[in-house]
Amino acid sequence: MDLSYSEEYEKFRSQVRTFLEAHWPPKDSETSREDQTARFRQQAIEAGYLARSIPKKYGGSEQEADVLKAAVIREEFRRVRAPGEVAGIGPGMLVPTLLDRGEEWQKEKFVAPTMRGEIVWCQGYSEPGSGSDLASLQTKGELVGDEWVINGQKIWTSGAQHADYMFCLTRTEPEAQKHAGISYLLIDMHQPGIDVRPLKQMNGSADFNEVFLTDVRTPKDWIVGKRGEGWLVSRTTLKHERNMIGNAEQSALMFAGLVDLARKTQRNGRSALQDPSVRQHLVEIEGRIKAHQYSGHRQLTKAAKNQDPGIIQLMNKLNSTNIGHAVAKLSIELLEDDSLLEPGSRLPDSELDLSGWMNQYMWSLGIAVAGGTANIQRNVIGERGLGLPRDAAVQRS
Ligand SMILES: Cc1cc2nc3c(=O)[nH]c(=O)nc-3n(C[C@H](O)[C@H](O)[C@H](O)COP(=O)(O)OP(=O)(O)OC[C@H]3O[C@@H](n4cnc5c(N)ncnc54)[C@H](O)[C@@H]3O)c2cc1C
Repeated sequence: MDLSYSEEYEKFRSQVRTFLEAHWPPKDSETSREDQTARFRQQAIEAGYLARSIPKKYGGSEQEADVLKAAVIREEFRRVRAPGEVAGIGPGMLVPTLLDRGEEWQKEKFVAPTMRGEIVWCQGYSEPGSGSDLASLQTKGELVGDEWVINGQKIWTSGAQHADYMFCLTRTEPEAQKHAGISYLLIDMHQPGIDVRPLKQMNGSADFNEVFLTDVRTPKDWIVGKRGEGWLVSRTTLKHERNMIGNAEQSALMFAGLVDLARKTQRNGRSALQDPSVRQHLVEIEGRIKAHQYSGHRQLTKAAKNQDPGIIQLMNKLNSTNIGHAVAKLSIELLEDDSLLEPGSRLPDSELDLSGWMNQYMWSLGIAVAGGTANIQRNVIGERGLGLPRDAAVQRS
């Protein structure tokens, strides 16, 4: 298997490099870093390097899907630490959902400012008692005149405290069967009736929230897909959520940090990188990352050809969270008792960011649950991928 880039792609790489040399890092020192980043992203969109799959009329650069060009851009941008796509739930999950299933006016209104990071979204899916069994959700949406009136509670809503809007699943047809009675609504978070209560985690931060909705209003046409067909729309969003999580590049970056940590950590009077058992663990993880990268290429190739990635996507989400956990676990073992320092603290004069690794470890536990738990991924891979018999239904009391 030849994994080197062809001449065509190496030529493309030199175009990207020329662009970066001209635009990053910015030459002027007067404007803020934020403004410089925003301006750079706009220039990169105009040059066709960012927001590539998004039509020009919604603020993108409308390039043909090309997995290898996308990889070259990522590599070159990372090499000089230039800002890439705006991260987050809005650009990663809502934008592709709107492009697939939204109305024209919804795309025009929301896509460009979301891609520029000017508006921030949160995902209102989970409810107490409705996580893996998401279709059992109870938050109600009632059409009153020209508005939906929404009442209920969401939970684990990441970033709700910073969000301008929520994409939210609500039960709009109480008489319909579980999956059939749900609608996908867009909600302005800056209105009375929305009560965001942060959930404090053991590391002191509060990444997610409970959100209580009391007589919250949203216009009748702020619905994505048809009334009662929100379940279908929600599957589109979840597909993109798994894509966002199951990315081998993130694992490779974290692994590079782990090798660096092993190099700098002392074990029995020498660098931990010299320790045979540490080396053994590192080699095992690196092998899994390589396999994950190739599996990621398969997924991207299928996506570029407009083919259904099938269970590869679920395998990649599972691989990515398993690898992330293995990397973080080894980092904690390397740090030994130092990893027990309070989050936020640093060893004086140390280059090691201890709280970073500890938080990474805790994050690795959470991300294995978010967007569909590892157990659920395994069940689907087993049943749909390997043709195993269906799991016995869970009896809920
Ligand atoms: C870091 C993080 C961020 C999140 N962000 C958001 C967000 O922004 N918005 C949002 O809406 N939600 C969010 N969530 C919620 C997440 O989607 C749910 O936690 C997840 O769907 C699991 O639901 P649950 O917590 O109710 O667990 P449950 O569904 O109750 O599952 C508990 C355990 O039982 C297992 N289990 C359940 N059913 C089955 C089955 N049929 N077969 C085998 N095992 C089963 C699960 O795998 C799990 O181990 C977030 C969660 C985390 C951890």
